[in-house]
This record gives sequence, structure tokens and C-alpha cells, in this order.
Amino acid sequence: MATASGTAADPIEQIEIQEFSYTVDNLGLDASGNRSVMKGARSELRAFAVVIRARSGAVGEYVSSHSGKSGVLVSQVRGLAPLVLGEDAEAREAIFNKLKRAHRHFMAVGHSAIDIALWDLAGKIARRPVWKLLGGYRARLPAYASTLNGGRHGILDSKEAYGDYAEACAALGFKGFKIHGWGDGDPREEAAVILHCAERVGARMTLMYDAASELRTFADAVYVGRACDEGKYYWYEDPFMDAGWSPHAARQLKSHVRTPLLLTEHVRGLESKAPWITAGATDFVRTDPDYDMGITGAMKTAHLAEAFGLDCEIHAAGPAQRHCMAAMRNSNWYELSLVAPGVRNPVPPVFGSGYSDELEAVGADGCFPVPEGNGLGVAYDWDYIRRNRVAEQVWRR
Ligand SMILES: [Mg+2]
Repeated sequence: MATASGTAADPIEQIEIQEFSYTVDNLGLDASGNRSVMKGARSELRAFAVVIRARSGAVGEYVSSHSGKSGVLVSQVRGLAPLVLGEDAEAREAIFNKLKRAHRHFMAVGHSAIDIALWDLAGKIARRPVWKLLGGYRARLPAYASTLNGGRHGILDSKEAYGDYAEACAALGFKGFKIHGWGDGDPREEAAVILHCAERVGARMTLMYDAASELRTFADAVYVGRACDEGKYYWYEDPFMDAGWSPHAARQLKSHVRTPLLLTEHVRGLESKAPWITAGATDFVRTDPDYDMGITGAMKTAHLAEAFGLDCEIHAAGPAQRHCMAAMRNSNWYELSLVAPGVRNPVPPVFGSGYSDELEAVGADGCFPVPEGNGLGVAYDWDYIRRNRVAEQVWRR
């Protein structure tokens, strides 16, 4: 059978998707559509596992950490799964290009989970952790605590509550703290929390601010950016409701605000991020293996940034994120997202092998470790996944 890679030495025989649900207390949906802290609320979230089996018996597994958006991701994985049957299980580059074209109208986000499962499979065949196959650079990842959106009822409901929480994170060992403010994007309220946290912990923590495209106007973005300047913030991320899509606006903003900008989290794919660099529209490049076509796509972006002498910051927490950052020189911080006082990190509760993205798992050095087992080095809790399964689909060759 003709495949994207020519001859398939070890063809992919089966792909399965297991969708499952889990609940997180004190988490709700705010008027802006954000998951945000809400005392007494309960969110039912969904996640999914992808399992790929090759003819040789090699298996790759992956559970995406992006639970809240899994409906979008999993629908694309479903669309792409039949296209990888018969492809060589180790031909990730050929599959990358095939699926990129196949889902070019949809930025191929569904390819991400498939690619990451194929890296797990490759690491298990080689009997090495993925980050060492990619080119090991470091085994400890300096981390920042990245908050959930603030609430109005008892959790992160004032600038003082953010300051208290930043201090609690510092006491645990974190050397970095990132504010996601309130979903309604009031510039005065956002500027106030920025300055308050700078006053409370600025001398001992690196501070970042992520507006998550919630500020309504360019003028609001300038106003809040000037607070970041005053508080000496490390970066200012996705400032306003252009959705982080306008390099022109970002360049204009840079002429009014001194704090380095971090954009391209919402710009999918290698070729689409490149013009942001050449236009001088962002100071930090952003990538996420769960959105940017897997570990293959994220590492391409890291090397694109490296070629321009820029740093590439990995979005979100998860095993794939850790393996990528551990193989990159030009990256500074692991994003321990998303945390808040009294709220469990809303990542799926299925990680074994000692892996944890809970706040308390941070080391005394303020770092998180990189899994050392073969492949992604994380054993998933299949009993939990089966007990809480809401859908199953299997494609066989
Ligand atoms: Mg962000």
C-alpha cells in the first residue's frame, strides 16, 4: 500500500480514542466563557486518550492535558485517525506533512495528540525518554505558578487574594508567578493587581502577566502594559481582543510599552509564527505541543526561534511540554498551569509513575523534573479512564 513515507516497515495497525470525564470542585464557567475559580461550583470536564498500535506490537499512548478544549481536539483526532492507518509508525515527519495538508483548513490541531503518541511509541522502541531522543539539554525545569482566572466569590477575588497566593507559591519554592486576571478585562482592576503583586513579591519572584486576550481595546492594552512596566514584569502576554492575531497591533503596542511581549500562543503552525518574528512583533515566541502539531511541531518552532536568537516559551503543563522544554536551550520557564487556592489543577487525574502537575509537587529548587522512563515516561491510570469512559472509538486497518 502506498504511504506518505513510501514503504511502511512497521505499519500502524490500530488507533483508539477513549474519552472520559472527571470533575473539579470550585471551578465554574464565567460570563466570558473562561474556566475560572468559583467557590462551591463543580465542573465536569472531559479528556481523551489516544493509543496507537503498530504491527510489531509497539504501542504509543497519550492523554492531552487540555481538558477544557478536548471536544475540539478530539473531533479533529477522529477526522485524522483513519489517515494514519498503514503509515510507518516511526515516520513522524512524513505523517506530519500528510496531516498538515489534510487538515490545513483547521490548523491541524488534532495531529498534536497523534504525533505525541508516536513519540511515546518511538521512545519505547528505543528504550529512551523522548527528551533524550530530541537532544537532552536539562533535567530540571524552572517553573512559574500560573493562576486560573480570578473569581468574584471567595477565591482570587481581590488583588490582595492574588498577593497572598503569590506569597504561598513562593513559600512552596516557586520563583515565578503569572497572573491571569478576571475574565471581564477591566483595565483598572488588572493594573491594580499587577502593581499589588509587584509590591508584595516582586523582589523575590519573577512576575508575568497574561491578559489572555481579555482586554477590550488597544488603549486598554497600553494602559495595562504601562502597569507591567512599572512593576518590572518579565513578560506581557496576549494583551487584548485582537486574540493575539495581529502582528501590526503588537508592533504598535511595542512603541508604547517597554515590557517584553509574549505572543503567538494563538497562532497555529510554524509558517504562521515566522512572520511574527520577521516583523519584530513579539519578543518571546510561544508554542504548545498539544496545539502546534505535536512534539514535532513544537520543536520546529523552538528551532525557528533559535535561528533568530529568540527564546521560545512552552505553553501549559504536561508530559509532552516537559519533554520539549528539556530538549531546548532557548526556553526559560515551565508553566505550572492552572492553579488557584483550594482548586485542584484541572488536568486529567490519570498520571502515574510519580508524575504530578499539582502545585505542591514543585521541588525546593523551584523546578519540576523531566520523566526518565521510556517514551513519555508516564504510566496512565487505565482503570480510571475505563471507569469514567464516555465514548470509545477504534480504527483498524
Ligand atoms: Mg497564555
